[in-house]
Amino acid sequence: MTFDLTKILRPHILNLVPYSSARDEYTGKEGIFLDANENPYQSVNGQHWNRYPDPYQWAIKEKLAPIKGVRPTQIFLGNGSDEPIDLLVRATCTPREDNMLLMPPTYGMYQVSADINDVPVIKVPLTSDFQIDTPRVLAELTPKTKIVWICSPNNPSGNLVQREAILEILNNFQGLVVVDEAYIDFASEPSFTQELDNYPNLIVLQTFSKAWGLASLRLGMCFASEEIIKVLNKIKPPYNLSGATQQLLLEALDYVETKNQLVNDILAEREHLRTNLAALPLVKRIYPSDSNFLLVEFDDASAVMQYLIDQKIIVRDRSKVILCDGCLRITVGTAEENKTLLDTLKAFAIMA
Ligand SMILES: *Cc1c(COP(=O)(O)O)cnc(C)c1O
Repeated sequence: MTFDLTKILRPHILNLVPYSSARDEYTGKEGIFLDANENPYQSVNGQHWNRYPDPYQWAIKEKLAPIKGVRPTQIFLGNGSDEPIDLLVRATCTPREDNMLLMPPTYGMYQVSADINDVPVIKVPLTSDFQIDTPRVLAELTPKTKIVWICSPNNPSGNLVQREAILEILNNFQGLVVVDEAYIDFASEPSFTQELDNYPNLIVLQTFSKAWGLASLRLGMCFASEEIIKVLNKIKPPYNLSGATQQLLLEALDYVETKNQLVNDILAEREHLRTNLAALPLVKRIYPSDSNFLLVEFDDASAVMQYLIDQKIIVRDRSKVILCDGCLRITVGTAEENKTLLDTLKAFAIMA
Protein backbone atom coordinates (compact mmCIF):
# COMPACT_ATOMS: atom_id res chain seq x y z
CA MET A 1 0.00 0.00 0.00
CA THR A 2 1.20 3.49 -0.77
CA PHE A 3 0.39 6.02 1.90
CA ASP A 4 0.78 9.69 1.13
CA LEU A 5 0.06 11.96 4.10
CA THR A 6 0.02 15.05 1.87
CA LYS A 7 -3.11 13.62 0.16
CA ILE A 8 -4.83 13.06 3.51
CA LEU A 9 -4.18 16.49 5.03
CA ARG A 10 -6.38 19.46 4.25
CA PRO A 11 -4.37 21.65 1.82
CA HIS A 12 -4.26 24.66 4.14
CA ILE A 13 -2.93 22.51 7.00
CA LEU A 14 -0.19 21.22 4.75
CA ASN A 15 0.89 24.80 4.08
CA LEU A 16 0.18 26.24 7.53
CA VAL A 17 2.78 28.42 9.23
CA PRO A 18 2.35 27.61 12.93
CA TYR A 19 2.52 30.04 15.85
CA SER A 20 6.09 30.38 16.98
CA SER A 21 6.34 30.74 20.75
CA ALA A 22 9.20 32.28 22.68
CA ARG A 23 10.14 28.78 23.83
CA ASP A 24 10.22 27.64 20.18
CA GLU A 25 12.62 30.34 19.13
CA TYR A 26 15.15 29.95 21.95
CA THR A 27 15.39 26.42 23.38
CA GLY A 28 18.40 26.88 25.68
CA LYS A 29 17.84 26.36 29.41
CA GLU A 30 20.38 28.84 30.86
CA GLY A 31 20.16 32.61 30.67
CA ILE A 32 18.19 35.68 31.62
CA PHE A 33 14.78 35.18 30.07
CA LEU A 34 13.25 38.47 28.99
CA ASP A 35 11.52 37.05 25.90
CA ALA A 36 8.08 35.83 27.00
CA ASN A 37 6.61 38.64 29.11
CA GLU A 38 6.44 36.38 32.15
CA ASN A 39 6.52 37.55 35.77
CA PRO A 40 10.23 37.35 36.66
CA TYR A 41 9.71 36.91 40.43
CA GLN A 42 7.30 34.14 41.35
CA SER A 43 3.65 33.13 41.35
CA VAL A 44 1.20 34.91 43.66
CA ASN A 45 1.07 31.84 45.90
CA GLY A 46 4.85 31.92 46.38
CA GLN A 47 5.34 28.88 44.16
CA HIS A 48 7.11 28.90 40.80
CA TRP A 49 4.65 28.45 37.97
CA ASN A 50 5.61 31.83 36.49
CA ARG A 51 7.52 30.44 33.47
CA TYR A 52 5.85 28.97 30.39
CA PRO A 53 6.23 25.17 30.21
CA ASP A 54 7.98 23.11 27.50
CA PRO A 55 5.52 23.19 24.55
CA TYR A 56 6.62 19.71 23.42
CA GLN A 57 7.01 18.05 26.85
CA TRP A 58 10.36 16.45 25.93
CA ALA A 59 11.25 15.32 29.47
CA ILE A 60 8.03 13.32 29.62
CA LYS A 61 8.41 11.88 26.12
CA GLU A 62 11.99 10.74 26.88
CA LYS A 63 10.71 8.89 29.95
CA LEU A 64 7.52 7.56 28.34
CA ALA A 65 9.12 6.29 25.10
CA PRO A 66 10.94 3.26 26.63
CA ILE A 67 7.84 2.39 28.69
CA LYS A 68 5.78 2.26 25.48
CA GLY A 69 8.46 0.87 23.14
CA VAL A 70 8.33 3.85 20.77
CA ARG A 71 10.61 6.80 19.96
CA PRO A 72 10.00 10.17 21.69
CA THR A 73 9.28 11.72 18.27
CA GLN A 74 6.40 9.23 17.78
CA ILE A 75 4.51 10.66 20.78
CA PHE A 76 1.96 13.47 20.99
CA LEU A 77 0.51 14.37 24.40
CA GLY A 78 -2.85 16.10 24.66
CA ASN A 79 -5.32 17.58 27.09
CA GLY A 80 -7.15 14.25 27.33
CA SER A 81 -7.63 11.95 24.34
CA ASP A 82 -10.25 14.43 23.21
CA GLU A 83 -7.52 16.79 22.04
CA PRO A 84 -5.79 14.43 19.54
CA ILE A 85 -9.22 13.19 18.40
CA ASP A 86 -10.28 16.73 17.53
CA LEU A 87 -6.90 17.69 16.03
CA LEU A 88 -6.96 14.64 13.74
CA VAL A 89 -10.43 15.56 12.45
CA ARG A 90 -9.45 19.18 11.89
CA ALA A 91 -6.17 18.27 10.17
CA THR A 92 -7.73 15.90 7.65
CA CYS A 93 -11.43 16.57 7.05
CA THR A 94 -12.74 19.53 5.08
CA PRO A 95 -16.23 20.23 6.52
CA ARG A 96 -19.17 18.92 4.44
CA GLU A 97 -16.72 17.48 1.92
CA ASP A 98 -14.58 14.73 3.48
CA ASN A 99 -15.93 12.02 5.75
CA MET A 100 -14.91 9.54 8.44
CA LEU A 101 -16.05 5.99 9.17
CA LEU A 102 -17.12 4.75 12.58
CA MET A 103 -18.49 1.49 13.87
CA PRO A 104 -21.26 1.78 16.44
CA PRO A 105 -21.70 1.02 19.23
CA THR A 106 -18.50 2.83 20.11
CA TYR A 107 -17.02 5.75 22.03
CA GLY A 108 -19.18 8.84 21.54
CA MET A 109 -16.41 11.39 21.09
CA TYR A 110 -15.64 10.48 17.44
CA GLN A 111 -19.20 11.40 16.41
CA VAL A 112 -19.20 14.54 18.57
CA SER A 113 -15.92 15.69 17.06
CA ALA A 114 -17.33 15.02 13.57
CA ASP A 115 -20.46 17.04 14.45
CA ILE A 116 -18.46 19.96 15.90
CA ASN A 117 -16.40 20.10 12.71
CA ASP A 118 -19.41 19.55 10.42
CA VAL A 119 -17.88 16.41 8.97
CA PRO A 120 -20.19 13.68 7.64
CA VAL A 121 -19.87 10.20 9.13
CA ILE A 122 -20.29 6.79 7.52
CA LYS A 123 -21.55 4.28 10.07
CA VAL A 124 -20.91 0.56 9.71
CA PRO A 125 -22.22 -1.19 12.84
CA LEU A 126 -20.13 -3.84 14.53
CA THR A 127 -21.39 -7.42 14.22
CA SER A 128 -23.57 -8.91 16.99
CA ASP A 129 -20.41 -10.08 18.81
CA PHE A 130 -18.99 -6.53 18.54
CA GLN A 131 -16.42 -7.33 15.86
CA ILE A 132 -15.61 -5.41 12.67
CA ASP A 133 -17.73 -6.21 9.62
CA THR A 134 -14.61 -5.94 7.46
CA PRO A 135 -16.14 -6.55 3.99
CA ARG A 136 -18.76 -3.89 4.65
CA VAL A 137 -16.23 -1.42 6.02
CA LEU A 138 -14.04 -1.83 2.95
CA ALA A 139 -17.10 -1.52 0.69
CA GLU A 140 -18.30 1.70 2.36
CA LEU A 141 -14.97 3.58 2.16
CA THR A 142 -14.99 6.42 -0.37
CA PRO A 143 -12.18 8.52 -1.88
CA LYS A 144 -13.32 11.22 0.56
CA THR A 145 -12.91 9.01 3.64
CA LYS A 146 -10.01 10.35 5.68
CA ILE A 147 -10.20 8.44 8.97
CA VAL A 148 -11.46 5.04 10.14
CA TRP A 149 -12.03 4.96 13.92
CA ILE A 150 -11.55 1.67 15.75
CA CYS A 151 -11.92 1.34 19.50
CA SER A 152 -10.18 -1.72 20.95
CA PRO A 153 -11.00 -2.78 23.64
CA ASN A 154 -14.29 -1.24 22.54
CA ASN A 155 -16.40 1.05 24.70
CA PRO A 156 -19.22 0.23 25.62
CA SER A 157 -18.92 -3.49 24.76
CA GLY A 158 -15.57 -4.05 26.51
CA ASN A 159 -14.07 -6.57 24.06
CA LEU A 160 -10.90 -6.48 21.98
CA VAL A 161 -11.44 -6.13 18.25
CA GLN A 162 -9.87 -8.90 16.14
CA ARG A 163 -6.32 -8.04 15.23
CA GLU A 164 -6.62 -9.48 11.69
CA ALA A 165 -9.59 -7.21 10.93
CA ILE A 166 -7.62 -4.12 11.97
CA LEU A 167 -4.63 -5.23 9.89
CA GLU A 168 -6.88 -5.82 6.89
CA ILE A 169 -8.20 -2.26 7.10
CA LEU A 170 -4.67 -0.88 7.58
CA ASN A 171 -3.57 -2.79 4.46
CA ASN A 172 -6.51 -1.77 2.26
CA PHE A 173 -7.19 1.86 3.16
CA GLN A 174 -5.14 4.87 2.07
CA GLY A 175 -6.39 7.11 4.90
CA LEU A 176 -5.68 7.15 8.63
CA VAL A 177 -6.68 4.23 10.84
CA VAL A 178 -7.03 5.30 14.47
CA VAL A 179 -6.98 2.52 17.06
CA ASP A 180 -8.22 3.90 20.39
CA GLU A 181 -6.64 1.79 23.13
CA ALA A 182 -7.92 3.62 26.21
CA TYR A 183 -8.37 0.24 27.95
CA ILE A 184 -5.31 -1.59 26.59
CA ASP A 185 -3.74 -2.01 30.06
CA PHE A 186 -6.64 -4.29 31.00
CA ALA A 187 -6.45 -6.34 27.80
CA SER A 188 -4.96 -9.77 27.13
CA GLU A 189 -3.28 -8.71 23.87
CA PRO A 190 -0.41 -6.35 23.11
CA SER A 191 -0.82 -2.77 21.90
CA PHE A 192 -0.84 -1.82 18.23
CA THR A 193 2.04 0.58 19.01
CA GLN A 194 4.35 -2.27 17.99
CA GLU A 195 2.96 -2.02 14.43
CA LEU A 196 3.72 1.70 14.02
CA ASP A 197 6.88 1.15 11.98
CA ASN A 198 4.99 -1.22 9.65
CA TYR A 199 1.99 1.04 8.96
CA PRO A 200 2.53 4.75 8.18
CA ASN A 201 -1.27 5.27 8.30
CA LEU A 202 -1.65 3.86 11.85
CA ILE A 203 -2.44 6.07 14.83
CA VAL A 204 -2.77 4.64 18.33
CA LEU A 205 -4.53 6.54 21.10
CA GLN A 206 -4.05 5.76 24.78
CA THR A 207 -4.84 7.67 27.95
CA PHE A 208 -3.66 8.21 31.52
CA SER A 209 -7.31 8.42 32.61
CA LYS A 210 -8.02 4.74 33.25
CA ALA A 211 -5.30 2.29 34.39
CA TRP A 212 -2.95 5.05 35.54
CA GLY A 213 -5.65 6.69 37.66
CA LEU A 214 -4.94 10.23 36.40
CA ALA A 215 -8.30 11.15 34.84
CA SER A 216 -8.40 14.52 36.57
CA LEU A 217 -5.10 15.63 35.02
CA ARG A 218 -6.54 15.26 31.48
CA LEU A 219 -3.74 13.44 29.69
CA GLY A 220 -4.13 11.65 26.40
CA MET A 221 -1.40 9.94 24.38
CA CYS A 222 -1.22 9.69 20.62
CA PHE A 223 1.38 7.46 18.93
CA ALA A 224 2.04 7.69 15.20
CA SER A 225 4.75 8.29 12.59
CA GLU A 226 7.04 11.24 13.16
CA GLU A 227 5.43 12.83 10.09
CA ILE A 228 1.92 12.68 11.61
CA ILE A 229 3.12 13.82 15.05
CA LYS A 230 4.72 16.87 13.42
CA VAL A 231 1.35 17.86 11.96
CA LEU A 232 -0.38 17.57 15.35
CA ASN A 233 2.38 19.67 16.95
CA LYS A 234 1.91 22.28 14.26
CA ILE A 235 -1.83 22.76 14.92
CA LYS A 236 -2.10 22.24 18.68
CA PRO A 237 -2.45 25.19 21.08
CA PRO A 238 1.20 26.10 21.82
CA TYR A 239 1.24 25.20 25.54
CA ASN A 240 -1.46 22.52 25.57
CA LEU A 241 -0.22 20.79 28.76
CA SER A 242 0.31 22.97 31.82
CA GLY A 243 3.58 22.92 33.73
CA ALA A 244 1.78 21.51 36.78
CA THR A 245 0.35 18.66 34.70
CA GLN A 246 3.76 17.94 33.20
CA GLN A 247 5.42 17.84 36.61
CA LEU A 248 2.78 15.53 38.08
CA LEU A 249 2.99 13.20 35.07
CA LEU A 250 6.79 13.08 35.16
CA GLU A 251 6.55 11.90 38.78
CA ALA A 252 3.75 9.42 38.01
CA LEU A 253 5.87 7.73 35.34
CA ASP A 254 8.12 6.38 38.14
CA TYR A 255 5.21 4.19 39.23
CA VAL A 256 4.71 1.73 36.35
CA GLU A 257 4.78 -1.17 38.83
CA THR A 258 2.04 0.44 40.91
CA LYS A 259 -0.04 0.90 37.76
CA ASN A 260 0.43 -2.80 36.94
CA GLN A 261 -0.59 -3.74 40.49
CA LEU A 262 -3.73 -1.58 40.28
CA VAL A 263 -4.57 -3.24 36.95
CA ASN A 264 -4.15 -6.70 38.52
CA ASP A 265 -6.40 -5.75 41.42
CA ILE A 266 -9.07 -4.41 39.04
CA LEU A 267 -8.85 -7.54 36.84
CA ALA A 268 -9.30 -9.80 39.88
CA GLU A 269 -12.28 -7.70 40.96
CA ARG A 270 -13.70 -7.82 37.44
CA GLU A 271 -13.75 -11.62 37.43
CA HIS A 272 -15.20 -11.72 40.94
CA LEU A 273 -17.92 -9.29 39.88
CA ARG A 274 -18.61 -11.29 36.71
CA THR A 275 -19.02 -14.56 38.62
CA ASN A 276 -21.35 -13.02 41.18
CA LEU A 277 -23.42 -11.10 38.64
CA ALA A 278 -23.80 -14.26 36.55
CA ALA A 279 -25.36 -15.99 39.55
CA LEU A 280 -28.18 -13.43 39.74
CA PRO A 281 -31.40 -14.50 37.99
CA LEU A 282 -32.13 -10.94 36.82
CA VAL A 283 -28.89 -10.89 34.82
CA LYS A 284 -29.49 -12.25 31.32
CA ARG A 285 -26.02 -11.96 29.91
CA ILE A 286 -22.55 -10.57 30.63
CA TYR A 287 -20.38 -9.81 27.61
CA PRO A 288 -16.67 -10.76 27.51
CA SER A 289 -14.46 -7.92 28.75
CA ASP A 290 -10.87 -6.90 28.11
CA SER A 291 -11.42 -3.64 29.97
CA ASN A 292 -12.25 -2.30 33.44
CA PHE A 293 -16.01 -2.54 32.96
CA LEU A 294 -18.70 -5.08 32.15
CA LEU A 295 -21.58 -4.73 29.71
CA VAL A 296 -24.47 -6.51 31.41
CA GLU A 297 -27.88 -7.33 29.96
CA PHE A 298 -30.81 -7.32 32.39
CA ASP A 299 -34.43 -8.45 32.11
CA ASP A 300 -35.55 -4.90 32.83
CA ALA A 301 -32.56 -2.57 32.54
CA SER A 302 -34.53 0.65 33.16
CA ALA A 303 -36.00 -0.65 36.42
CA VAL A 304 -32.59 -1.85 37.60
CA MET A 305 -31.01 1.48 36.64
CA GLN A 306 -33.65 3.46 38.55
CA TYR A 307 -33.38 1.24 41.62
CA LEU A 308 -29.59 1.60 41.65
CA ILE A 309 -29.87 5.39 41.36
CA ASP A 310 -32.33 5.39 44.29
CA GLN A 311 -29.65 3.54 46.27
CA LYS A 312 -26.99 6.07 45.14
CA ILE A 313 -25.21 3.61 42.87
CA ILE A 314 -24.57 5.10 39.46
CA VAL A 315 -23.91 2.91 36.42
CA ARG A 316 -24.20 3.83 32.75
CA ASP A 317 -27.44 3.10 30.93
CA ARG A 318 -26.54 1.86 27.43
CA SER A 319 -29.90 0.18 26.82
CA LYS A 320 -30.88 2.57 24.02
CA VAL A 321 -27.59 2.12 22.14
CA ILE A 322 -27.48 -0.02 19.00
CA LEU A 323 -26.73 -3.72 19.79
CA CYS A 324 -26.90 -2.97 23.53
CA ASP A 325 -30.64 -3.50 24.16
CA GLY A 326 -31.29 -3.95 27.87
CA CYS A 327 -27.65 -3.33 28.79
CA LEU A 328 -26.04 -1.37 31.59
CA ARG A 329 -22.31 -0.63 31.57
CA ILE A 330 -20.82 -1.21 34.98
CA THR A 331 -17.33 0.02 35.90
CA VAL A 332 -15.40 -2.36 38.14
CA GLY A 333 -15.19 -0.64 41.53
CA THR A 334 -13.31 -1.44 44.72
CA ALA A 335 -14.07 -4.77 46.45
CA GLU A 336 -16.32 -2.92 48.86
CA GLU A 337 -18.15 -0.99 46.14
CA ASN A 338 -18.72 -4.16 44.12
CA LYS A 339 -20.10 -5.96 47.18
CA THR A 340 -22.55 -3.12 47.80
CA LEU A 341 -23.61 -3.27 44.15
CA LEU A 342 -24.19 -7.04 44.32
CA ASP A 343 -26.09 -6.80 47.64
CA THR A 344 -28.26 -4.03 46.17
CA LEU A 345 -29.06 -6.09 43.07
CA LYS A 346 -30.01 -9.04 45.30
CA ALA A 347 -32.33 -6.79 47.29
CA PHE A 348 -33.89 -5.57 44.05
CA ALA A 349 -34.49 -9.17 42.93
CA ILE A 350 -36.31 -10.00 46.19
CA MET A 351 -38.42 -6.84 45.96
CA ALA A 352 -39.28 -7.21 42.26
C1 LIG B 1 -12.20 6.90 28.63
C2 LIG B 1 -11.90 6.84 27.16
C3 LIG B 1 -10.95 7.69 26.61
C4 LIG B 1 -10.17 8.64 27.46
O1 LIG B 1 -10.49 9.92 27.31
P1 LIG B 1 -9.62 11.04 28.04
O2 LIG B 1 -10.05 12.26 27.32
O3 LIG B 1 -8.16 10.71 27.78
O4 LIG B 1 -9.94 11.00 29.48
C5 LIG B 1 -10.67 7.58 25.27
N1 LIG B 1 -11.29 6.67 24.50
C6 LIG B 1 -12.20 5.82 25.02
C7 LIG B 1 -12.81 4.80 24.16
C8 LIG B 1 -12.55 5.90 26.35
O5 LIG B 1 -13.48 5.07 26.85
